[in-house]
Amino acid sequence: MTTITNNNVIGAWDAEHALPFEVPTLEAVGLPAGGLPSGGLPSAPTDAAGGLPSAPTGAAGGWPLSQLRAEFPILSERVEGGKPLVWLDNAATTQKPRAVIERLQEYYEHENSNVHRGAHTLAARATDAYEEARGKVAAFIGAPSADNIVFVRGTTEGINLVAQSFVKPLLSPGDEIVLTILEHHANIVPWQVLTQETGAVLRVAPVDDTGQILVDEYRRLFSPRTKFASFTQVSNALGTVVPVEELIAIAHAFGVPTLVDGAQSIPHTPVNVTALDADFFVFSGHKLYAPTGIGAVYGKREHLEAAVPYQTGGNMIKDVTFERTVYQDPPQKFEAGTGNIADAVGLGAAIDFLEQIGIAHIAAWEQELLRYGTAELTKVPGLHLVGTAHHKASVLSFVLDGHSVEEIGQALSREGIAVRAGHHCAQPILRRFGLEGTVRPSLAFYNTPEEIEQLAQVLHRLAG
Ligand code: PMP
Repeated sequence: MTTITNNNVIGAWDAEHALPFEVPTLEAVGLPAGGLPSGGLPSAPTDAAGGLPSAPTGAAGGWPLSQLRAEFPILSERVEGGKPLVWLDNAATTQKPRAVIERLQEYYEHENSNVHRGAHTLAARATDAYEEARGKVAAFIGAPSADNIVFVRGTTEGINLVAQSFVKPLLSPGDEIVLTILEHHANIVPWQVLTQETGAVLRVAPVDDTGQILVDEYRRLFSPRTKFASFTQVSNALGTVVPVEELIAIAHAFGVPTLVDGAQSIPHTPVNVTALDADFFVFSGHKLYAPTGIGAVYGKREHLEAAVPYQTGGNMIKDVTFERTVYQDPPQKFEAGTGNIADAVGLGAAIDFLEQIGIAHIAAWEQELLRYGTAELTKVPGLHLVGTAHHKASVLSFVLDGHSVEEIGQALSREGIAVRAGHHCAQPILRRFGLEGTVRPSLAFYNTPEEIEQLAQVLHRLAG
């Protein structure tokens, strides 16, 4: 076992659990010493995955990683005078597989039309493709029906929609909304705006020194004035996996509906909104290997019916006179104007692609990479990890003694390694650890152990 000490962290390691306090050797997790295999993802823990058209399964039933990477043309890009691109900025956005790129091309070459209107062949094709994508999103997150899915621009627009359409009408002065300190600004500012508009107030759940929510403190925030609770499932700044099922159950015990920000969870872990009993779940397509400008809000039927659209106009109506308007039923009620049809279709293609690999394979491989990355980074003298919860996904946030985070980001960029350096749109949680910024490598399933080694090498050089 590699034992990591508190010298390597800001805050503290999780004292209760073995991981990541003690990072097991690679042999202990069934992998060859000296590095993870770049030959393939580990075999599926649960499901029997189908096959990508051009990627036969590996000997162990896993996917050959090199073939998976070949599905992402941009991963062969060279930058900085010919260096291979190392994309470790997946929490900001993910790269797109050929299946998505080609689906967009096919849509524009053979199907492009506005939807829900116009009785002609292409309108029918575009409408079918758009509604099929809605069905794929619903199935992917375990929603009971496609009617529970509203297409939006992304997580930010989704949270604004829920805040303005569902929560605002519930609020009176002095009412309370519960958030956590882990939230991205997208899950803070829309609620702050609501407090200014209604006289409601925010209550914020704290974290422990590992970056995990203090659930008892969260529970204590609820009162008869609490009207809504909104929290992330995975922190984009620290990588903490939040026990959202428990947070939802606590809120429900007080009769309070909830929103789960799934921007950082949906690429890394299977999600089932029905099993979670989430009232709302929002995510962005671009963090799920799909195009930018498309995302989804899942809402329980009764909530979508009760909510009042905050954007109005064409597409979302049944009947309009100058005296009154009758809205469509959900989800169309919330989709005013012409939507991002092509990119919704692209999101459907991304989901098909991921389902072929199996999200369980993806989660398992990414956990191995995260474990390996944790072990490698904490060997760098003067490096301090920020965010050391027992349950983490994808993110390795850190600071390095004697170097600004911008300096490190630039030094890595010169080697072709893309990471984020800064506040990650989550200033409250970084300030909780006394920081204004961190360097944040973030992993996706197409990353390799060699890429982690390259990252560590540059950091060793800077530290030395
Ligand atoms: N929430 C979290 C946890 C995020 O990581 C992000 C994106 N960084 C957002 C919300 C906002 O997502 P988008 O910019 O795609 O709307």
